[in-house]
Amino acid sequence: MRPRAVLSVGSNLGDRLGTLQGCVQAIGALPDTDVLAISPVYQTAPVGGPAQPDYLNAVLIVATSLSPPGLLAATQRIEADFGRVRSPGAERFGPRTLDIDIISFAGLLSDDPVLTLPHPRAHERAFVLAPWHDLDTAASLPGRGPVAGLLAGLGRGGVRRQPDLVLRPPRPEDPGVPEDPGVLRGSGEPGGPGGPGEPGTVTEAP
Ligand code: AMP
Repeated sequence: MRPRAVLSVGSNLGDRLGTLQGCVQAIGALPDTDVLAISPVYQTAPVGGPAQPDYLNAVLIVATSLSPPGLLAATQRIEADFGRVRSPGAERFGPRTLDIDIISFAGLLSDDPVLTLPHPRAHERAFVLAPWHDLDTAASLPGRGPVAGLLAGLGRGGVRRQPDLVLRPPRPEDPGVPEDPGVLRGSGEPGGPGGPGEPGTVTEAP
């Protein structure tokens, strides 16, 4: 069985839902990688950093044959494809079109700053724990304990589930990353020309 990884995805600039949907598509198009489950979408208040718009956040569970560094490199490429600029001057915790964090990978523990596992701040982020708990009430953060207990201790302040915003599973016929991410505009948020697709779901038996 391929290793499982838990990914947190977030966006607070531009067409946030369209970007997250494109991100799901791009992750599903990675080599030997399948998106197994997609959480509900949450609107969340920014944590730290400068004054900035609210985020949309979700959690994905993937099965992948990529190595942990391979998955990190791939997710950073996807971030870049969606217009996130990573530069020494960029403000930490500032607004971003797309942020992908590897929350856990096959239960591994690592204190390597390039890829810390589990993600070093996951246990204190309701925007990670709440959608993860929606997908798997028995989930556990390696080295920290059950997600349910961490979430109960933290509370759900600042995070609101958005039942009208839905991420659909990747479509095999669609490209992984659009040549122009602008084509994603209008594919999502209410009031836009498009609408959310069918609910996210498990696409492969765990
Ligand atoms: P951020 O700007 O918050 O997305 O942080 C990106 C930096 O965190 C990159 O330099 C990554 O190498 C590093 N990093 C360390 N652990 C992780 C992780 N579990 N997931 C994603 N990025 C990580």
